[in-house]
Amino acid sequence: MPPMNSVPPTTEPLLTPAQFLKGVGPVKAELLAKLELYYARDLLFNFPRTYQDMSELRTIDQLEEGKLASVTGVIEEVDLRNTGTGRSLLGLLVKQGASYLRGLWFNQPYLRSKFQVGRRILLSGEPKMQGVRWEMVHPKFEFLADDDDVPAGRILPVYSLTEGLNQTQMRRIMQSIVESHAQLVDDVFPDDFLDAHNLWPIRAALPQIHQPRDQDSLEQARRRFIYQELFVLQLALAIRKWKLTHHRRAPPLPTSARIDARITRLFPFELTSEQRTAIDQIAADMGREVPMNRLLQGDVGSGKTVVAMYAMLLAVAHGKQAALMAPTEVLARQHVQTLSTALKASQVRIGLLVGSLTAAERKQTLDALAAGELDILVGTHAVTHALNQSVPVATSDGLSEALAGGRFAKLGLVVIDEQHKFGVNQRAALKRAGIDPHYLVMTATPIPRTVTMTLFGDLDVSTLRSPPPGRQKTHTYLAEDGQRARWWNFFKQKLTEGRQGFVIVPLVEETEAVEAASVQQTLDVLQRGELLGYRLASLHGRMTPIEKESAMESFRRGRTQVLVSTSVVEVGVDVPNATLMTIEGGERFGLAQLHQLRGRISRGSHAGYLCVFANPSTDDAQRRLDAFTKSTDGFELAELDFQLRGPGDLFGTRQHGLPPLRIADLARDVIIVEEARSDAQTLIAADPDLTNPTYAKLKRMVLVRYGEALELGDVG
Ligand code: ADP
Ligand code: MG
Repeated sequence: MPPMNSVPPTTEPLLTPAQFLKGVGPVKAELLAKLELYYARDLLFNFPRTYQDMSELRTIDQLEEGKLASVTGVIEEVDLRNTGTGRSLLGLLVKQGASYLRGLWFNQPYLRSKFQVGRRILLSGEPKMQGVRWEMVHPKFEFLADDDDVPAGRILPVYSLTEGLNQTQMRRIMQSIVESHAQLVDDVFPDDFLDAHNLWPIRAALPQIHQPRDQDSLEQARRRFIYQELFVLQLALAIRKWKLTHHRRAPPLPTSARIDARITRLFPFELTSEQRTAIDQIAADMGREVPMNRLLQGDVGSGKTVVAMYAMLLAVAHGKQAALMAPTEVLARQHVQTLSTALKASQVRIGLLVGSLTAAERKQTLDALAAGELDILVGTHAVTHALNQSVPVATSDGLSEALAGGRFAKLGLVVIDEQHKFGVNQRAALKRAGIDPHYLVMTATPIPRTVTMTLFGDLDVSTLRSPPPGRQKTHTYLAEDGQRARWWNFFKQKLTEGRQGFVIVPLVEETEAVEAASVQQTLDVLQRGELLGYRLASLHGRMTPIEKESAMESFRRGRTQVLVSTSVVEVGVDVPNATLMTIEGGERFGLAQLHQLRGRISRGSHAGYLCVFANPSTDDAQRRLDAFTKSTDGFELAELDFQLRGPGDLFGTRQHGLPPLRIADLARDVIIVEEARSDAQTLIAADPDLTNPTYAKLKRMVLVRYGEALELGDVG
């Protein structure tokens, strides 16, 4: 955006620069610019960050036992104490006139630094009389400026601020703009759509989201904007999907009873019913003339590899080639091993393409590939990237590079393993001309349901929920330092019985040098102490692929009994004899990550034992660890992690190449996500290009917001 003074006043009132708005002027306009608020429009859609519900505002004398209330006052005393068992208690004494109220927080010592004596504060919670004084346990709190007037009986908006602009000033500016401009905004939704979907018109919703009459109106106003944001995203995804299936061509590779029998004969076990369902879905996709775009999700050890193998052999049965990409060289080699073992007796030719090959080996593989002398190529994402000469879409570690500008003689299928960070624009190359392969993407990170419906909303999804039969339970213990001796004794006993184990060290800092050092230090200490006499080795990011592979190989063969590593390495490693794991600094790991780690020792026919040493210092950390010891269902844990931590790195829109959501929250707005998705799909099924003129505004909004990210513009 240009700085405001370079923009001349305009006749379009919503584009009036902020400085010309009532109550703003050049000085405040400059402050607003810091908040990226330049025009009247920006301000109107600058929704409150939160609200202060003053409808329950009380003086301390008016409080009633157990009845929700808000109280303002000044912080008189802050006191943080340890309560013996490693727990802490934070107390706040708030003074209002001659009366006092105590706020109490258990195990949230980090809040201490937020509270300063003398600051004005608003506490909301359930008051309880304790002796002679009112107390609130874990109240909500909000700081107030000294000159903040807090009118009783209203719900007040709380806006993001910048230095020099306080809440009272901001509220005044916002109130005035809502009065002057809210009724000038046109609705993107036609009237009958609003009626049919129980949505407030924008001219009713705007004033209520800024100055709500009551909680109900606030709810309705928010619902309208959350729905709109999600609906526009879902329209974009539905349009993209429609275009992919109507503009792209792939070779049809149907299965048949004969092919099916020939493939399944190679598996040394019966497929589970979930594997069978996934295979049927994949085979149906591959049988069509449009590219498959399917996500196969299933916990670590749920048996995805077999499903992928089926898809690859289906391609090979039709004389096509298949590519399988793994995130690391260790996993790529592991796949080659699994495939070679299963396909020993067949004619299928398998190649490996990884960074550590010599130039000659590499050339040989590529030549064989081009001559059609390889059926399946296994490689790492990075290498296939280097392989590509004419990248059809910009990718960072993506998949379209597998197409490799004609390096494959007859590519029919691309499988991408252990991938969850890929962006939408890396999934499939809309712009490419000619014939596409089918795509199967696999992830071992259970994905929360609303995320599958949004960030992965243009893919079809198959899910493996339960592990193959015969799996032993994995026992999870949460332990304190005092229990170490007992745990190591048990650990050694199991090693002596022939089992193997991991010791996981938290990654304190994301540099390979620090990582290597802390892994090495842990190894040294154990080698000299608890695990004296056992064969230990380390695995960390500073090792070369060859060093890693040889460490893994020695672990796989049982020469190494205990592997010390950080969490960053080799999530998909499959060593069924490894059944022991110690995790240090458990409070530093996310729930999904802990669960991934546990997956490494839940693979064989022996029961697994995992001990997590942790010093949780926050409520959330404690809840994460408690949940982790109670549940082994990855999908359940993923949902909980999502609730506790929000989208975070893994499931943030940005990581997936989409603009951020501004008001919707995928962890919270579950029902609206479902509603918007189904409404968008219905609309696009009936009118794929949104040609109906009543949807013209909506269509423009979809293209402006997602046209580029989802490549909607240049097709159709
Ligand atoms: P992941 O989903 O993590 O890739 P894998 O495909 O590596 O899981 O499978 C984990 C283990 O389970 C492998 O050792 C595999 O041979 C075994 N397995 C897979 N499917 C079945 C099945 N239907 N019955 C028995 N064992 C199976
Ligand atoms: Mg796997």
